[in-house]
Amino acid sequence: MIPVNTPVIPPEAKTFVNDCLDTGWISSAGSYLQRFEEDFAKYVNRKHAIAVSNGTVSLHVALAALGIGPGDEVIVPAFTIISCLNAILYTGAIPVIVDVEPDIYTLDPNQLEKAFSPKTKAIMPVHIYGHPADMDPIIEFAKKHNLFIIEDAAETHGALYKGKNCGSFGEISSFSFYANKLITTGEGGIVVTDDDILAEKSRDLRNLCHLPGQRFHHKTLGFNYRMTNVQAAIGCAQLLHAEEFFNRKRKMGKLYDEGLAEIPGIEITKIRDWATSSYWMYPLRVTEKSGMTCKEFQKKLKEKGVDTRDFFWPLSNQPMLKDFDVRVLPCPVSEKIAIEGCYLPSGLALTESEIKKVIETVKSIM
Ligand SMILES: *Cc1c(COP(=O)(O)O)cnc(C)c1O
Repeated sequence: MIPVNTPVIPPEAKTFVNDCLDTGWISSAGSYLQRFEEDFAKYVNRKHAIAVSNGTVSLHVALAALGIGPGDEVIVPAFTIISCLNAILYTGAIPVIVDVEPDIYTLDPNQLEKAFSPKTKAIMPVHIYGHPADMDPIIEFAKKHNLFIIEDAAETHGALYKGKNCGSFGEISSFSFYANKLITTGEGGIVVTDDDILAEKSRDLRNLCHLPGQRFHHKTLGFNYRMTNVQAAIGCAQLLHAEEFFNRKRKMGKLYDEGLAEIPGIEITKIRDWATSSYWMYPLRVTEKSGMTCKEFQKKLKEKGVDTRDFFWPLSNQPMLKDFDVRVLPCPVSEKIAIEGCYLPSGLALTESEIKKVIETVKSIM
Protein backbone atom coordinates (compact mmCIF):
# COMPACT_ATOMS: atom_id res chain seq x y z
CA MET A 1 0.00 0.00 0.00
CA ILE A 2 1.31 3.45 -0.91
CA PRO A 3 0.49 5.49 2.24
CA VAL A 4 -0.93 8.99 2.26
CA ASN A 5 1.96 10.23 4.36
CA THR A 6 5.33 9.10 5.67
CA PRO A 7 7.45 11.81 7.31
CA VAL A 8 11.16 12.24 6.69
CA ILE A 9 13.21 12.50 9.88
CA PRO A 10 16.63 13.95 9.07
CA PRO A 11 19.72 12.43 10.75
CA GLU A 12 20.37 15.60 12.80
CA ALA A 13 17.15 14.90 14.71
CA LYS A 14 18.73 11.93 16.47
CA THR A 15 21.81 13.93 17.45
CA PHE A 16 19.74 16.84 18.80
CA VAL A 17 17.24 14.64 20.65
CA ASN A 18 20.06 12.58 22.18
CA ASP A 19 21.61 15.85 23.33
CA CYS A 20 18.34 16.65 25.19
CA LEU A 21 18.33 13.19 26.77
CA ASP A 22 22.03 13.32 27.71
CA THR A 23 21.79 16.77 29.28
CA GLY A 24 18.40 16.27 30.94
CA TRP A 25 16.74 19.20 29.15
CA ILE A 26 13.60 17.29 28.21
CA SER A 27 10.88 19.63 29.43
CA SER A 28 9.88 23.09 28.25
CA ALA A 29 13.14 24.91 28.94
CA GLY A 30 16.34 24.43 26.98
CA SER A 31 18.40 25.72 24.13
CA TYR A 32 16.57 23.98 21.28
CA LEU A 33 13.33 25.77 22.09
CA GLN A 34 14.92 29.18 21.80
CA ARG A 35 16.82 28.18 18.69
CA PHE A 36 13.69 26.72 17.07
CA GLU A 37 11.68 29.88 17.77
CA GLU A 38 14.43 32.11 16.38
CA ASP A 39 14.99 29.93 13.31
CA PHE A 40 11.28 29.64 12.58
CA ALA A 41 10.68 33.40 12.93
CA LYS A 42 13.44 33.95 10.37
CA TYR A 43 12.05 31.23 8.12
CA VAL A 44 8.65 32.97 7.80
CA ASN A 45 9.94 36.52 8.04
CA ARG A 46 8.36 37.47 11.35
CA LYS A 47 9.88 39.22 14.37
CA HIS A 48 8.59 36.78 17.02
CA ALA A 49 7.73 33.09 17.21
CA ILE A 50 6.17 31.38 20.24
CA ALA A 51 6.20 27.58 20.13
CA VAL A 52 3.27 25.66 21.64
CA SER A 53 2.10 22.08 21.97
CA ASN A 54 0.05 21.82 18.75
CA GLY A 55 -1.53 23.79 15.93
CA THR A 56 -4.99 23.80 17.49
CA VAL A 57 -3.93 25.55 20.69
CA SER A 58 -1.75 27.94 18.69
CA LEU A 59 -4.96 29.23 17.07
CA HIS A 60 -6.46 29.57 20.55
CA VAL A 61 -3.41 31.50 21.80
CA ALA A 62 -3.55 33.79 18.76
CA LEU A 63 -7.23 34.64 19.36
CA ALA A 64 -6.77 35.02 23.12
CA ALA A 65 -3.72 37.27 22.67
CA LEU A 66 -5.85 39.55 20.50
CA GLY A 67 -8.43 39.71 23.30
CA ILE A 68 -11.16 37.94 21.29
CA GLY A 69 -13.89 36.74 23.69
CA PRO A 70 -17.60 36.40 24.42
CA GLY A 71 -19.80 38.58 22.23
CA ASP A 72 -17.20 38.92 19.46
CA GLU A 73 -17.67 37.36 16.04
CA VAL A 74 -14.87 35.75 14.02
CA ILE A 75 -15.31 34.95 10.32
CA VAL A 76 -13.96 31.52 9.38
CA PRO A 77 -14.13 29.50 6.13
CA ALA A 78 -16.28 26.34 6.11
CA PHE A 79 -13.69 24.20 4.35
CA THR A 80 -11.09 23.61 7.05
CA ILE A 81 -10.19 21.41 10.00
CA ILE A 82 -12.36 21.58 13.12
CA SER A 83 -9.44 23.18 15.03
CA CYS A 84 -10.33 26.57 13.54
CA LEU A 85 -13.91 26.43 14.78
CA ASN A 86 -12.90 24.98 18.15
CA ALA A 87 -10.28 27.65 18.81
CA ILE A 88 -12.92 30.36 18.32
CA LEU A 89 -15.35 28.51 20.60
CA TYR A 90 -12.64 28.07 23.30
CA THR A 91 -12.55 31.88 23.61
CA GLY A 92 -16.33 32.14 23.94
CA ALA A 93 -16.59 34.09 20.67
CA ILE A 94 -19.13 33.37 17.92
CA PRO A 95 -17.83 31.73 14.73
CA VAL A 96 -19.35 33.03 11.49
CA ILE A 97 -18.92 30.32 8.87
CA VAL A 98 -18.58 31.37 5.22
CA ASP A 99 -18.05 29.58 1.93
CA VAL A 100 -14.80 29.12 -0.02
CA GLU A 101 -13.61 29.65 -3.59
CA PRO A 102 -14.46 26.68 -5.86
CA ASP A 103 -11.00 26.32 -7.42
CA ILE A 104 -8.58 26.78 -4.50
CA TYR A 105 -10.89 25.93 -1.52
CA THR A 106 -9.93 29.01 0.52
CA LEU A 107 -12.08 31.77 2.08
CA ASP A 108 -14.10 33.54 -0.61
CA PRO A 109 -13.52 37.29 -0.11
CA ASN A 110 -16.90 38.01 -1.74
CA GLN A 111 -18.62 36.48 1.32
CA LEU A 112 -17.11 38.97 3.78
CA GLU A 113 -19.66 41.74 3.25
CA LYS A 114 -22.55 39.33 3.92
CA ALA A 115 -20.84 37.90 7.01
CA PHE A 116 -19.94 41.24 8.56
CA SER A 117 -21.86 42.63 11.55
CA PRO A 118 -21.14 45.28 14.20
CA LYS A 119 -19.85 42.42 16.40
CA THR A 120 -17.23 41.23 13.89
CA LYS A 121 -13.74 41.45 15.40
CA ALA A 122 -11.57 39.23 13.25
CA ILE A 123 -11.16 37.11 10.11
CA MET A 124 -9.35 33.76 10.11
CA PRO A 125 -8.25 32.95 6.54
CA VAL A 126 -6.93 29.39 6.13
CA HIS A 127 -4.53 28.34 3.37
CA ILE A 128 -5.56 24.93 2.09
CA TYR A 129 -3.48 21.93 0.91
CA GLY A 130 -0.49 24.20 0.29
CA HIS A 131 -2.32 26.83 -1.77
CA PRO A 132 -2.56 30.33 -0.25
CA ALA A 133 -5.86 32.15 0.23
CA ASP A 134 -6.33 35.34 -1.79
CA MET A 135 -5.09 37.66 0.97
CA ASP A 136 -5.25 41.14 -0.63
CA PRO A 137 -9.06 41.52 -0.72
CA ILE A 138 -9.26 39.99 2.78
CA ILE A 139 -6.68 42.45 4.13
CA GLU A 140 -8.43 45.34 2.38
CA PHE A 141 -11.78 44.39 3.96
CA ALA A 142 -10.13 43.99 7.39
CA LYS A 143 -8.51 47.42 7.13
CA LYS A 144 -11.76 49.08 6.07
CA HIS A 145 -13.65 47.67 9.08
CA ASN A 146 -10.80 47.65 11.60
CA LEU A 147 -10.69 43.85 11.97
CA PHE A 148 -7.84 41.59 13.07
CA ILE A 149 -6.49 38.87 10.80
CA ILE A 150 -5.46 35.53 12.31
CA GLU A 151 -3.82 33.58 9.52
CA ASP A 152 -3.90 29.79 9.73
CA ALA A 153 -0.82 28.72 7.79
CA ALA A 154 -0.70 25.15 9.15
CA GLU A 155 -0.69 23.72 5.62
CA THR A 156 1.64 26.20 3.92
CA HIS A 157 5.14 26.13 5.40
CA GLY A 158 7.27 27.84 2.76
CA ALA A 159 4.40 28.80 0.43
CA LEU A 160 4.20 32.35 -0.93
CA TYR A 161 1.38 34.78 -1.73
CA LYS A 162 2.56 37.38 -4.25
CA GLY A 163 6.14 36.61 -3.21
CA LYS A 164 5.47 37.04 0.54
CA ASN A 165 5.57 34.20 3.07
CA CYS A 166 2.35 32.58 4.18
CA GLY A 167 2.38 33.23 7.91
CA SER A 168 3.56 36.83 7.55
CA PHE A 169 0.14 38.42 6.95
CA GLY A 170 -2.12 40.08 9.47
CA GLU A 171 -1.57 40.64 13.18
CA ILE A 172 -0.72 37.07 14.08
CA SER A 173 -0.36 33.73 12.28
CA SER A 174 -0.39 30.10 13.30
CA PHE A 175 1.38 26.93 12.14
CA SER A 176 1.12 23.24 13.05
CA PHE A 177 3.99 20.74 13.23
CA TYR A 178 1.89 17.58 13.23
CA ALA A 179 3.61 14.58 11.61
CA ASN A 180 2.03 15.15 8.20
CA LYS A 181 2.99 18.84 7.97
CA LEU A 182 5.96 19.96 5.86
CA ILE A 183 7.94 20.74 9.03
CA THR A 184 7.12 18.42 11.91
CA THR A 185 7.98 18.11 15.60
CA GLY A 186 5.70 15.07 16.06
CA GLU A 187 3.09 17.23 17.73
CA GLY A 188 3.58 20.97 17.87
CA GLY A 189 2.48 24.41 16.82
CA ILE A 190 3.67 28.01 16.79
CA VAL A 191 2.31 31.53 16.64
CA VAL A 192 4.27 34.20 14.80
CA THR A 193 3.83 37.96 14.89
CA ASP A 194 5.69 41.24 14.38
CA ASP A 195 3.91 42.85 17.35
CA ASP A 196 5.92 42.95 20.61
CA ILE A 197 2.82 43.09 22.83
CA LEU A 198 1.04 40.20 21.09
CA ALA A 199 4.24 38.17 21.38
CA GLU A 200 4.49 38.83 25.10
CA LYS A 201 0.81 38.00 25.64
CA SER A 202 1.22 34.77 23.68
CA ARG A 203 4.21 33.77 25.83
CA ASP A 204 2.20 34.48 28.99
CA LEU A 205 -0.88 32.58 27.80
CA ARG A 206 1.21 29.57 26.84
CA ASN A 207 2.66 29.38 30.35
CA LEU A 208 -0.13 30.04 32.88
CA CYS A 209 0.19 33.85 32.93
CA HIS A 210 2.62 34.08 35.85
CA LEU A 211 3.13 37.71 36.96
CA PRO A 212 6.55 38.92 35.81
CA GLY A 213 9.01 38.55 38.69
CA GLN A 214 6.32 37.01 40.91
CA ARG A 215 6.16 33.34 40.10
CA PHE A 216 2.97 31.57 41.18
CA HIS A 217 1.06 34.85 41.21
CA HIS A 218 -1.15 34.84 38.11
CA LYS A 219 -2.45 37.98 36.44
CA THR A 220 -5.19 36.24 34.46
CA LEU A 221 -6.40 32.89 33.11
CA GLY A 222 -3.56 31.12 31.33
CA PHE A 223 -2.88 27.70 29.85
CA ASN A 224 -0.16 25.09 29.80
CA TYR A 225 0.42 24.97 26.06
CA ARG A 226 4.21 24.61 26.27
CA MET A 227 6.29 22.77 23.66
CA THR A 228 9.09 20.55 24.97
CA ASN A 229 12.78 20.98 24.20
CA VAL A 230 12.70 17.46 22.67
CA GLN A 231 10.02 18.49 20.18
CA ALA A 232 11.94 21.66 19.40
CA ALA A 233 15.11 19.60 18.84
CA ILE A 234 13.30 17.64 16.11
CA GLY A 235 12.04 20.95 14.73
CA CYS A 236 15.56 22.42 14.57
CA ALA A 237 16.69 19.38 12.58
CA GLN A 238 13.70 19.70 10.26
CA LEU A 239 14.35 23.39 9.63
CA LEU A 240 17.86 22.60 8.40
CA HIS A 241 16.10 20.82 5.52
CA ALA A 242 13.16 23.18 5.02
CA GLU A 243 14.17 24.33 1.57
CA GLU A 244 15.01 20.82 0.38
CA PHE A 245 11.64 19.53 1.69
CA PHE A 246 9.79 22.40 0.03
CA ASN A 247 11.48 21.82 -3.31
CA ARG A 248 10.83 18.10 -3.13
CA LYS A 249 7.11 18.65 -2.46
CA ARG A 250 6.85 21.07 -5.35
CA LYS A 251 8.54 18.60 -7.66
CA MET A 252 6.14 15.87 -6.54
CA GLY A 253 3.16 18.20 -6.98
CA LYS A 254 4.22 19.10 -10.49
CA LEU A 255 4.63 15.43 -11.42
CA TYR A 256 1.02 14.89 -10.33
CA ASP A 257 -0.09 18.07 -12.18
CA GLU A 258 1.39 16.79 -15.44
CA GLY A 259 0.18 13.23 -15.00
CA LEU A 260 -3.39 14.06 -14.00
CA ALA A 261 -4.06 17.17 -16.13
CA GLU A 262 -6.06 15.66 -18.97
CA ILE A 263 -8.13 12.93 -17.35
CA PRO A 264 -11.88 13.31 -17.93
CA GLY A 265 -13.75 13.03 -14.64
CA ILE A 266 -10.78 14.28 -12.59
CA GLU A 267 -10.47 17.92 -11.57
CA ILE A 268 -7.12 19.08 -10.19
CA THR A 269 -6.27 22.42 -8.56
CA LYS A 270 -5.07 25.10 -10.97
CA ILE A 271 -2.50 27.19 -9.14
CA ARG A 272 -3.38 30.90 -9.27
CA ASP A 273 -0.75 33.06 -10.98
CA TRP A 274 0.02 34.90 -7.70
CA ALA A 275 0.60 31.72 -5.72
CA THR A 276 3.69 29.64 -4.98
CA SER A 277 2.03 26.53 -3.58
CA SER A 278 3.85 24.25 -1.16
CA TYR A 279 1.80 21.31 -2.56
CA TRP A 280 1.32 20.10 1.02
CA MET A 281 -1.22 17.44 0.05
CA TYR A 282 -2.33 16.64 -3.47
CA PRO A 283 -6.10 17.15 -3.72
CA LEU A 284 -8.38 16.19 -6.59
CA ARG A 285 -12.09 16.01 -7.26
CA VAL A 286 -14.04 13.27 -8.98
CA THR A 287 -16.69 14.97 -11.13
CA GLU A 288 -19.97 13.71 -12.58
CA LYS A 289 -18.28 12.93 -15.90
CA SER A 290 -16.47 10.02 -14.24
CA GLY A 291 -19.74 8.14 -13.64
CA MET A 292 -18.66 7.28 -10.10
CA THR A 293 -18.61 8.88 -6.67
CA CYS A 294 -15.39 9.92 -4.98
CA LYS A 295 -15.99 7.22 -2.35
CA GLU A 296 -16.13 4.56 -5.10
CA PHE A 297 -12.99 6.02 -6.66
CA GLN A 298 -11.17 5.88 -3.30
CA LYS A 299 -12.26 2.28 -2.76
CA LYS A 300 -10.95 1.25 -6.18
CA LEU A 301 -7.63 2.98 -5.50
CA LYS A 302 -7.32 1.18 -2.19
CA GLU A 303 -7.94 -2.19 -3.85
CA LYS A 304 -5.02 -1.39 -6.14
CA GLY A 305 -2.71 -0.40 -3.29
CA VAL A 306 -3.10 3.39 -3.18
CA ASP A 307 -4.32 5.06 0.01
CA THR A 308 -6.27 8.35 0.00
CA ARG A 309 -7.88 10.66 2.56
CA ASP A 310 -11.29 12.29 2.52
CA PHE A 311 -11.56 16.06 2.18
CA PHE A 312 -12.53 18.05 5.29
CA TRP A 313 -16.16 17.75 6.26
CA PRO A 314 -17.34 21.39 6.17
CA LEU A 315 -17.79 23.31 9.42
CA SER A 316 -21.27 24.30 8.19
CA ASN A 317 -22.42 20.66 8.48
CA GLN A 318 -20.80 19.63 11.76
CA PRO A 319 -23.09 17.84 14.24
CA MET A 320 -21.53 19.80 17.11
CA LEU A 321 -22.91 23.13 15.85
CA LYS A 322 -26.23 22.48 17.59
CA ASP A 323 -24.58 23.01 21.00
CA PHE A 324 -23.13 26.46 20.27
CA ASP A 325 -23.97 29.99 19.26
CA VAL A 326 -22.72 29.93 15.67
CA ARG A 327 -23.71 31.91 12.56
CA VAL A 328 -23.68 29.88 9.35
CA LEU A 329 -23.96 31.46 5.91
CA PRO A 330 -24.86 29.27 2.91
CA CYS A 331 -21.83 27.13 1.98
CA PRO A 332 -22.81 25.27 -1.23
CA VAL A 333 -19.24 25.16 -2.57
CA SER A 334 -17.71 23.66 0.60
CA GLU A 335 -20.51 21.12 0.84
CA LYS A 336 -20.07 20.06 -2.79
CA ILE A 337 -16.28 19.72 -2.78
CA ALA A 338 -16.37 17.82 0.52
CA ILE A 339 -18.27 15.04 -1.25
CA GLU A 340 -16.32 15.19 -4.51
CA GLY A 341 -12.78 15.35 -3.18
CA CYS A 342 -9.95 13.36 -1.66
CA TYR A 343 -6.22 13.69 -1.55
CA LEU A 344 -3.55 11.37 -2.89
CA PRO A 345 -0.34 10.07 -1.28
CA SER A 346 1.78 13.17 -0.72
CA GLY A 347 4.33 12.41 2.02
CA LEU A 348 7.92 13.54 1.67
CA ALA A 349 9.19 9.96 1.63
CA LEU A 350 7.24 9.17 -1.55
CA THR A 351 9.43 8.19 -4.52
CA GLU A 352 9.05 9.29 -8.11
CA SER A 353 8.16 5.75 -9.19
CA GLU A 354 5.45 5.58 -6.51
CA ILE A 355 3.95 8.83 -7.83
CA LYS A 356 3.99 7.39 -11.35
CA LYS A 357 2.27 4.29 -10.04
CA VAL A 358 -0.44 6.43 -8.40
CA ILE A 359 -0.98 8.34 -11.67
CA GLU A 360 -1.19 5.11 -13.69
CA THR A 361 -3.66 3.66 -11.17
CA VAL A 362 -5.88 6.74 -11.36
CA LYS A 363 -5.80 6.52 -15.18
CA SER A 364 -6.67 2.85 -15.19
CA ILE A 365 -9.68 3.42 -12.91
CA MET A 366 -10.96 6.33 -14.99
C1 LIG B 1 -3.15 20.54 10.94
C2 LIG B 1 -3.98 21.76 10.99
C3 LIG B 1 -4.30 22.43 12.18
C4 LIG B 1 -4.12 21.86 13.55
O1 LIG B 1 -2.95 21.33 13.85
P1 LIG B 1 -2.72 20.26 15.03
O2 LIG B 1 -1.27 20.45 15.28
O3 LIG B 1 -3.06 18.92 14.48
O4 LIG B 1 -3.55 20.66 16.20
C5 LIG B 1 -4.95 23.65 12.10
N1 LIG B 1 -5.33 24.16 10.93
C6 LIG B 1 -5.10 23.53 9.77
C7 LIG B 1 -5.56 24.17 8.50
C8 LIG B 1 -4.44 22.30 9.75
O5 LIG B 1 -4.23 21.66 8.59
